[in-house]
Amino acid sequence: MTRPVRKRLKSYHFPRSTLGLVILMAAGLAGNYFSLPLFFGVDFLFGSILTLIVVQLYGILWGTVAAAIASSYTYILWGHPYAIATLIGEAFFVGLLLRHQQPNLLLLDGIYWVCIGMPLIWVFYGALMKMPTTSVWLILLKQPVNGMFNALIASLLIAHLPLYKWTNRSPVSQTLSLRQILINLLVAFVFFPVLTLMVLDSRRVFSDGQTQIQLDLTNLSSTIATEVVLWYQPHVQALEVLARAALQSNLMPSEVLQEATELLHKSFPDFRYLYILSAPRKAIAVAPPLSEGNKINSQCPINSSSPVLGKAEQNSVEIKLPIVRGQTNLGCVVGEIALEKLNQLLKTATSNSEVQITLVAQNGDVIASTIQTLVGTDNFDIRQGGELRHLSPITFQQLPAEPNLPLMVRWQKSFYIHQKPIGDHLPWNLVLKVSAATQIDYLQNIYIKQLAVMLLIGILGIGLATILSQRLVKPLTHLKRVTSNLPHKLLEEREIDLPRSGVAEIKSLTDNFQLMASSLQQNFTDIRQANEQLKATQTQLVRSNRELKNFAYIVSHDLQEPLRKMKSFSQLLARECQGQFTNNEKALRYLDYIIDAAQRQRNLIQALLNYSRLGKNDSPKVAIDLGAVVKKVLEDLSLPIAETQATVTMIDLPTVQASATQMAQLFLNLIGNGIKFQGDATPRIRIEAKLQQPEEWLISVQDNGIGIKPQYAERIFQIFQRLHSRSEYSGTGIGLAICRKIVEGHGGRIWVASEPGQGSTFYFTLPVSSSPS
Ligand code: ADP
Repeated sequence: MTRPVRKRLKSYHFPRSTLGLVILMAAGLAGNYFSLPLFFGVDFLFGSILTLIVVQLYGILWGTVAAAIASSYTYILWGHPYAIATLIGEAFFVGLLLRHQQPNLLLLDGIYWVCIGMPLIWVFYGALMKMPTTSVWLILLKQPVNGMFNALIASLLIAHLPLYKWTNRSPVSQTLSLRQILINLLVAFVFFPVLTLMVLDSRRVFSDGQTQIQLDLTNLSSTIATEVVLWYQPHVQALEVLARAALQSNLMPSEVLQEATELLHKSFPDFRYLYILSAPRKAIAVAPPLSEGNKINSQCPINSSSPVLGKAEQNSVEIKLPIVRGQTNLGCVVGEIALEKLNQLLKTATSNSEVQITLVAQNGDVIASTIQTLVGTDNFDIRQGGELRHLSPITFQQLPAEPNLPLMVRWQKSFYIHQKPIGDHLPWNLVLKVSAATQIDYLQNIYIKQLAVMLLIGILGIGLATILSQRLVKPLTHLKRVTSNLPHKLLEEREIDLPRSGVAEIKSLTDNFQLMASSLQQNFTDIRQANEQLKATQTQLVRSNRELKNFAYIVSHDLQEPLRKMKSFSQLLARECQGQFTNNEKALRYLDYIIDAAQRQRNLIQALLNYSRLGKNDSPKVAIDLGAVVKKVLEDLSLPIAETQATVTMIDLPTVQASATQMAQLFLNLIGNGIKFQGDATPRIRIEAKLQQPEEWLISVQDNGIGIKPQYAERIFQIFQRLHSRSEYSGTGIGLAICRKIVEGHGGRIWVASEPGQGSTFYFTLPVSSSPS
């Protein structure tokens, strides 16, 4: 792949934040898709866990979009759009309040459901959808419980998973508040076990209820089946008696046979008629007698030896009992039985319950039914009228086939259907049908109670956790507020009002702070006092130093004047008295002494003046090339250099921030001393600079002169300290003192390394760039 193509592809990559959002939204939809069905059309959803995470991470706008996507599935699940509205409302409300304050997600969600969500559900489900009150209550309680549970999970996930890092979002706060942790944990400890127990219990109650219904229907159907058989059997037996009598008389019409038929007809009032047929459709005996013009059309069953049942008219069935000898059907006994009694029997059996019972023949003819409209109809099919859910091979639940109805209402309008064959040669099915509404009402009431308890526990949990955490956290928050910027407050001597708490750990923490604060306060007071003392001493020092400088300056300045006079008048005197003193050598020598002493005194005072001037009216510190400075100095020293034939070399002298005049003075003194303090050898002076760590210049002025004993290495830098008599080497003893003052004034140090007879090396340092203080 070429580079630009790869680059282009790279630019199509989703940023981590967008990818995170897409995944969270998809997970929200999946959370609702994989819902947990609790009972008849009520499901526990998980989508809002992800939705609330989006709200927290991406803000109100994306949170609302995520809620819309995730909740759209509820339309498929429950068949109405109202849940979508409440769930979008949840994300919007929580997002809105999260923006303004920073409280707990769980707390905000709880507030939403209690203040907005529940009234909305009442309006949507009660007023608009006109759902039964119990159903409305059920939803009214389930939604907040579901919502708060999800908010709790979302809170825990946000607090304990690095979601911000994964989605590349910047967290609202890096730390977790203790209060939030406490609320989450306390509510979690209440919510999780109670909810688990509730879900398990509700499922158990539900399945128990269904088992009970099946059991009741089975019992009822068995009883009714027995009663139907008991009603049917005597009639068949009567027919059998007749059949036997007919067989004995070889199916020949006789009076005895006719009488027996009439007798049985009378004994069984349900028999509308009774007759005996011989094979060629000939009536042998008939009761009641046939009226004029009436003919018998019935035919005997050919290949059957057991009774054959058939629908005769609307309210009767016809039983044909074959008369068989050996393998041959000789004829049959036919009886038509009225069904009023059977209908009556079914009605009596269900007098105390709401069960509808229908007796159906195999071909779909309704034999009898407690439903008036069904009596006498045919083509009965239990599959008609809705969608069937199999509960057992013979029990179903029939939900009305109205897909637009909310699932909950369909459940309420559903029926349990139980189908049982009567058996005992009666080819009929008993169909029992009972409305699920009663059971669902009963169950709903149980769930409502459970959910109400759950919601109450949830709200109480949040309330209690808020109060409890506040009790625990309040002193800590107070402590946090009081101790923030503690040193500053102590410095300003503000009162530190530390919290009081009954919790042992918090109390000891507060005590420790108290101790720390008072010891800090003490330290601050000590430091302040020491500082004040130091300042006072410093001011005093500065003042006395200034006075001293002024004194030295004034003294040296004022002393010069009489000296100058002494010197000039001594010289005048010497000139005037030249003739008179010619022979008086002593007097002339004395005058020379005076003039010389005055000159030295003048030099001394001049040097002292120079020394005291240092630091006053200095030239500013600028970048100066030391090489150039040294060159200028060498020009000034050209005379002694020429006299002594001294050689001066300089290596790598840098540019530094310094006062030009002071640097010239420094080199003048050091080079001058190097030339002055010489033995017999020709003076060789070498000036060198090196950069050393930490950043500073080390400059050395080396000579090959008489050297200095190491014990004087320190002393020579003090003012007026000389190691030689005037007769040996001239000087004032101020030169090196001036050098030290200059170097230290530039933030450096000066020292000497020397041995007598080995020459001396004077070292001094200068900072590299920044101008010294
Ligand atoms: P001065 O040169 O006027 O005597 P300084 O303060 O310059 O005064 O020096 C003090 C003393 O240090 C000098 O008197 C001398 O004894 C000694 N000294 C200074 N520089 C050198 C040197 N390069 N070699 C030997 N001795 C020196």
